[in-house]
Amino acid sequence: MDAFTYQANKLYVENIAVETLVERYGSPCYIYSKTALMQRFQAFDQAFGARPHLICYAVKANSNLALLNVLAQLGSGFDIVSLGELKRVLAAGGQANKTVFSGVGKRADEIRSALELGIKCFNVEVSAELDRINHIAGELGVIAPVSFRVNPDVDAKTHPYISTGLKENKFGIEIHQALLEYQRAAAMPNIKIVGIDCHIGSQLTDIAPFLAALEKLLALVEQLSAVGIDLEHIDLGGGLGICYNQEQAPEPAEYIQALLSRLANSNYTVLLEPGRAIVGNAGILVTRVEYLKPTEHKNFAIVDAAMNDLIRPSLYSAWQNIIPVDKTGAGDERVWDIVGPVCETGDFLGKNRTLALKPGDLLAICSAGAYGFSMSSQYNSRPRVAEIMVQDDKVQLIRARETIEQLWLGEQLMV
Ligand SMILES: *Cc1c(COP(=O)(O)O)cnc(C)c1O
Repeated sequence: MDAFTYQANKLYVENIAVETLVERYGSPCYIYSKTALMQRFQAFDQAFGARPHLICYAVKANSNLALLNVLAQLGSGFDIVSLGELKRVLAAGGQANKTVFSGVGKRADEIRSALELGIKCFNVEVSAELDRINHIAGELGVIAPVSFRVNPDVDAKTHPYISTGLKENKFGIEIHQALLEYQRAAAMPNIKIVGIDCHIGSQLTDIAPFLAALEKLLALVEQLSAVGIDLEHIDLGGGLGICYNQEQAPEPAEYIQALLSRLANSNYTVLLEPGRAIVGNAGILVTRVEYLKPTEHKNFAIVDAAMNDLIRPSLYSAWQNIIPVDKTGAGDERVWDIVGPVCETGDFLGKNRTLALKPGDLLAICSAGAYGFSMSSQYNSRPRVAEIMVQDDKVQLIRARETIEQLWLGEQLMV
């Protein structure tokens, strides 16, 4: 969170006081640092040196057009999981031929559009998906580039909801089935095999599971080579963690060095699909304290942001740091549960936080750049909040706060 610092007790994003942004754009709002975003992308990109590579930013982490545009300008590729995400990439100035299409449930119309738009490759996750892609490519008279997402059955040792590389998870082709699927693909008229990929989970703070997955992939690559199937790229997915609390997440350079030293005697292009590790610590969610409600058992600080704006604490019991926007701290210091106005007991942003609070205070929920706005909803008919990007002393509203009327856009009374 280097882009977010205190100057004379006030929280700044780069050279702008958070307070002034809230005066202008209201609360709650997401605020991103463009410099932090760029630095994190470059940390990944530059660690590869001369090795052929492509960073495919995972769009689902944060899909705002301005953010995608910043990354596209730096040469980023993209990892998408829906046609909507592909259209966002294109609207933001990204290229289809640098975009890989992951996801377990690609619809026929999504496959067709992705082929028409010239996708870099499909990361195939289901046997029947391969047949569907071959069929649609045949109808269009094109050759579809494919990679198989294999499930290497390694334990990412992360939260069960974001662990994806175990054999009981729904993702990818079982590694023992993969050779067969590659051979099937090799015999199909409208398929070109280009790579192999995996994605074992999210918020990994240890490099070892990545290396274990790579080992399993390389064993398969050898088997493929023995039957005459040669690949252009190896894609290790996303999943590198960030520091929310005390985690010691490896730096991108450390992680990439470890991969490259294992891959030193090969010349595959290396793809990565980082999401959280690029954008997670480049953003905060700012919220205002509406009411303080100390009770006999618990002290509640009721704020104007809620689980619909940031669902990670409710969904994964995720811990995100909560800090005052003004540290002068004339408020009531107690241990508070920071809760939203949504009618769910699970609606909290943080529990047991020692803070000096008074009504009207602003708080920043840290590390909210990834899986924050992109997972937000309008639950309880709450318009989605504004998003702002700052670079140095330059400010840009990158998504206007939704209006109340937008809540029922497209709805029709029954006649
Ligand atoms: C979610 C996802 C990613 C990004 O994961 P992070 O943990 O945000 O890096 C990459 N690839 C695939 C296939 C995903 O589903």
